[in-house]
Amino acid sequence: MWCPTASSGPCRRPTRTPPARRTTPRHPKPQPPTNPRARELPAVSTERSNVQAFERAQRVIPGGVNSPVRAFRAVGGTPRFIRRAEGAYLWDVEGRRYIDYIGSWGPMILGHGHPAVLDAVMKAARDGLSFGAPTEAEAELAEAIIAQVPSVQQVRLVSSGTEAGMSALRLARGATGRSAIVKFEGCYHGHADALLVKAGSGLATFGHPTSAGVPPEVVQHTMVLEYNNVGQLEQAFAERGHEIACVMIEPIAGNMNFVRASVPFMTRLRELCTQHGALLVFDEVMTGFRVALGSAQSLYARLIPGFQPDMSVFGKVIGGGMPLAAFGGSRDVMAQLAPLGPVYQAGTLSGNPVATACGLATLREISRPGFFDALAARTRALVDGLAAEARDAGVPMAVDSEGGMFGFFFAADLPQNYPAVMATDKERFNRFFHAMLDRGVYLAPALYEAGFVSATHTEADIAATLQAAREALRQG
Ligand SMILES: *Cc1c(COP(=O)(O)O)cnc(C)c1O
Repeated sequence: MWCPTASSGPCRRPTRTPPARRTTPRHPKPQPPTNPRARELPAVSTERSNVQAFERAQRVIPGGVNSPVRAFRAVGGTPRFIRRAEGAYLWDVEGRRYIDYIGSWGPMILGHGHPAVLDAVMKAARDGLSFGAPTEAEAELAEAIIAQVPSVQQVRLVSSGTEAGMSALRLARGATGRSAIVKFEGCYHGHADALLVKAGSGLATFGHPTSAGVPPEVVQHTMVLEYNNVGQLEQAFAERGHEIACVMIEPIAGNMNFVRASVPFMTRLRELCTQHGALLVFDEVMTGFRVALGSAQSLYARLIPGFQPDMSVFGKVIGGGMPLAAFGGSRDVMAQLAPLGPVYQAGTLSGNPVATACGLATLREISRPGFFDALAARTRALVDGLAAEARDAGVPMAVDSEGGMFGFFFAADLPQNYPAVMATDKERFNRFFHAMLDRGVYLAPALYEAGFVSATHTEADIAATLQAAREALRQG
């Protein structure tokens, strides 16, 4: 049985009184020597090790993990099994502390265990875990999303980014009456069949499945183009524009580390979609409420007059660490969804009250004035610092960041597409990853993943990270 107090005594029923360590007025900023919970954990547990935890998990879970990237296959070694987290830190089962730059792959923008978020979650849980009937909080969360994203007039809440992307795709096809879709190499939109595709042999040909179990017929309507390649985009629309239901894109591609769609590319993409009646779908599962309060589309709207996508997909931050995602668009497009329209979509746990409360509390905190300026400055300090350390060590490194999301590449210049990302120095990345992990810095375990900074990362955390990087880079 899961028990929140298992490590400190017999399991008690949660009461309305929060535990003592949660009563601090500010979000607790655990510093290593003063964090009482940190002292509770032995430096190295004699009972359990990451290796033992991994062996046990592998016996009963394929690969020992419930999502493949957690298995450390790209970098080698044993994944860390996490026991708990607070603020900017994770502790593994051996009691080792890490500065966390994954943040559950993006959701933990406030850091772990933010008191206002925890309170909202506990309160919602006590009021009922799930009803299968509508709640006012769902409308409140929808309003909170819409308030920051002008292109979105209505949203539907779902439970994962995969589900949101898959549903957005069906809606785009239903709304346009077309079958073909366009995606870009290196972008990830969840693991729906039609989106697990790699480029075909020729330009503007339909793709091939990237996973066993996906019949070729299922991806025969999916075209895969190169990111930031205006020429390919123009050719695809010239040849098949009238067949294209939608173009799905990560505006800042965080599933190939950190690659921005260039302004000329995005400008042309918007023009072509409008001209050919295709819907432009922004997959902001990662970038939404992470790179800016208005999400990545607000950045493009500042650079391209009048710019808006037709539909948007959200996840990660809007759930604040609970399973929650959403897709949305104009009232006209959303009216095509059941029960109003002919496009079917449903979910037993959609808009779950506990997840909704968690997302709402998170959005409330990140909407405070100055939140993103501070987060962006801290994130920028990290990547600028990394670049400076690399320069001092004579190692080529290119860095970028926006809001609380960042990327770094062992390459002289920032890559503009997937082949360029894959051409960066993988061996050096893997050595760097392990050297950082050994020094208590938890980076994403693959060179094609973005990194995330939270509001609880302090200047001291950044300094400690840069010190670790200095040693790691010198080590080779
Ligand atoms: C994480 C992610 C998804 C998938 O979300 P899940 O909640 O993991 O299903 C989809 N698109 C993008 C851009 C993502 O980063």
